[in-house]
Amino acid sequence: MYSCVRQRGATVPTKEVPTFCRICEALCGLIATVEDGRLTGLRADQDDPHSKGFCCVKGLSMTQIVNDPSRVTTPLKRIGGPGEFAPVSWAEAIEDIGARLKSLRSESGPRSIAVHEGNPPYFSFGAAMWGKTMTMAIGTPWFYGVNSEDGASRVAAFKLLYGHCAHMPIPDIRRTQALLVIGANPLVSKGSFLHDPHMRQHMEEIVERGGRVFVVDPRRTATAELFEHLPIRAGTDAWFLLSVLNVIVARRLYAQEFVEQWTTGFEEWAEELAAFPPEATESLTGIPAARVEEVAEYLATARAAVVYGRTGTCTQRFGTLNNVLQDFINILTGNLQREGGMVWAWSPVAMGPIAEAMKLATFDKVRTRVRGLPDTYGFLPSSALPEEIQTPGDGQIRGIVMIGSNPVITGPAGNKLAEALEELDTFVALDIYVNETNRHAHYILPTTSMYEREDTQLQFSNRYVRPALRATQKVVEPPGECREESVILNDIARAMGLGSAHPYAIQRLLARVGLGMTPMGMANLLIRTGKAGDLFGLRRGGWSLKKLNERAPHGVVLHEYLPLAPLKKFIKTPDKKIPLAHPTFMGELERLKQADGDGGGSGYPLRMVGMREMTSHNSWMHNSARLMPATREHAIRIHPVDAETVGVRNGDVVRVTSDGGAVETKALVTDEMTPGTIAMPHGWGHRGGWQRANAAGGATSNTLSTEVENASGSTVLNGIPVRVERLDRAAGARGQQSIEVAVP
Ligand code: SF4
Repeated sequence: MYSCVRQRGATVPTKEVPTFCRICEALCGLIATVEDGRLTGLRADQDDPHSKGFCCVKGLSMTQIVNDPSRVTTPLKRIGGPGEFAPVSWAEAIEDIGARLKSLRSESGPRSIAVHEGNPPYFSFGAAMWGKTMTMAIGTPWFYGVNSEDGASRVAAFKLLYGHCAHMPIPDIRRTQALLVIGANPLVSKGSFLHDPHMRQHMEEIVERGGRVFVVDPRRTATAELFEHLPIRAGTDAWFLLSVLNVIVARRLYAQEFVEQWTTGFEEWAEELAAFPPEATESLTGIPAARVEEVAEYLATARAAVVYGRTGTCTQRFGTLNNVLQDFINILTGNLQREGGMVWAWSPVAMGPIAEAMKLATFDKVRTRVRGLPDTYGFLPSSALPEEIQTPGDGQIRGIVMIGSNPVITGPAGNKLAEALEELDTFVALDIYVNETNRHAHYILPTTSMYEREDTQLQFSNRYVRPALRATQKVVEPPGECREESVILNDIARAMGLGSAHPYAIQRLLARVGLGMTPMGMANLLIRTGKAGDLFGLRRGGWSLKKLNERAPHGVVLHEYLPLAPLKKFIKTPDKKIPLAHPTFMGELERLKQADGDGGGSGYPLRMVGMREMTSHNSWMHNSARLMPATREHAIRIHPVDAETVGVRNGDVVRVTSDGGAVETKALVTDEMTPGTIAMPHGWGHRGGWQRANAAGGATSNTLSTEVENASGSTVLNGIPVRVERLDRAAGARGQQSIEVAVP
């Protein structure tokens, strides 16, 4: 859509471009306003059939990020200490990086180089693909990511339960009667591991249909506020779930025929569950036994029921067990691959097989060298990086290519990682900002923002509540010398003598003669050969990338409700049954039985959880004035009873201490917390090249994490034993009141 408008006496060429947001998994449709080649506004796209006019403040604020003067717009070379860079030409940067990585690869082997991919690149089809393909081109097994601070335990559970994790089931939320939300706050974070911006509406419609929505959370979140809240002591979700299952089995409310047909190991579990009646766990979880019984009975007898858990349950001491138990409820109540239950979504393109072919859909195929932590969905846990860099031996990481990531802030033990990064021979970061991690790099290479490249949503296509296809044109030209990640990675690989960053030798050979596959070329192939594709003209009415762009610029919804294929298609274990008593599950149950309740000694009477704020997305959106106004402050949330116990008033400066370290921040006294649990927003405490984010102060809660769940390599970020003390000093200026202090 093009038009011309007159502004302040001058005629400015203006256009409005349908596009979509790629900050979170809701993937909302937006209309971008471009004036004189500059992005000047974003608004919700009323014509987008997927998001139907919905978007949030973060999506609208991307205008400020795209135009942020703090963005990196030219290649930077390190010239001094951390954060000291000077501009350099692309040619010089690529030549030097290529030579350094080439010599590392030939002298110390491919295993001396790692690729690390953060969360934002996963939302770009090209960057998501090329990070992994770069790893394959180099020939290194070391592909790191941030899954370990997110959904690693969920991936592990699904792989062991169903024999694959390339295509993970989602809750059929639009047709269910009973929904148990545990460790998730979809009103703020929208859906995750599923794509639908209208989670609130779908949950409200369950109630309107006469059903019930239960929300288990230690905080009265926005989601808990609207539905039936079961406040729980942080980190005790596994005990609650065991008791729900105890009731379902003890009262013979389970779907006997379904269990016999599809599972093995039920009897073993029936015996184990007998030890967890609700009366035995209520003092630990804080959820009264009668309430547990009520929830269990409702889930088991509802016409359709589903349990949906996310980051809150994934990043606990028993994250894998939590995910397994959640799905046990779906399985034992017969709510697997049936309307309103947990279902494998219809997908227009074969992303599952592609993920398998690219060795992305793996669990425990590769282990870290020092601690032996497993990969999940192809990603090794970033918490292992410090020791992998600093421990000598074959496979020691000496070079890193990092794409859009900031694990010093978003992972555990950030100080240790920062120290280790300084020891690397070559550290190259592809990013839009100088952040707390890449300030230790030798080079920072400027990448495009989401509105400066063509893109699709294909990598998410098998998790839509309403299956859709969507593509976008480039909205504006990239500023300065920014380039797409796939282009940069191809250039680095070429300078290393590899031909390109494509995964297979034949593709790299073709790339040498200018016939390399591009991300959009790959997307077009996937769309055309998929279930909704035009099969290169053989299927009338089918889609291609060109057709999508020309005929459906707002995207297209392919099914209003999910068509369900037979369950047998999705159980890929050797005997085609779900192994309820898998040795890993029984091992985790044994570990729970041996555990000292929810952990921690007498010096740490409180439990800490992380929390997502509406105006934050991990760590990378804190330099927007709209999202980070001067009045916004970092603070823990603490219940009035706990506040009184430790002598803390609203606004006091406090120190939060765990076994792993301590941070100082402010206190916000609120009864939205369950007594005994505090919450701290993560992703703060900046000291990168973003002045507004730095000035906001705050701390990264992940500093306090000390534990890794070995079954999945997940970092334990929820239920951390802590103590809170009031500091006898007034709050300093904003940006100074919250600091990290030395690890005790
Ligand atoms: S909910 Fe907000 S951040 Fe997420 S995709 Fe929509 S507009 Fe973007």
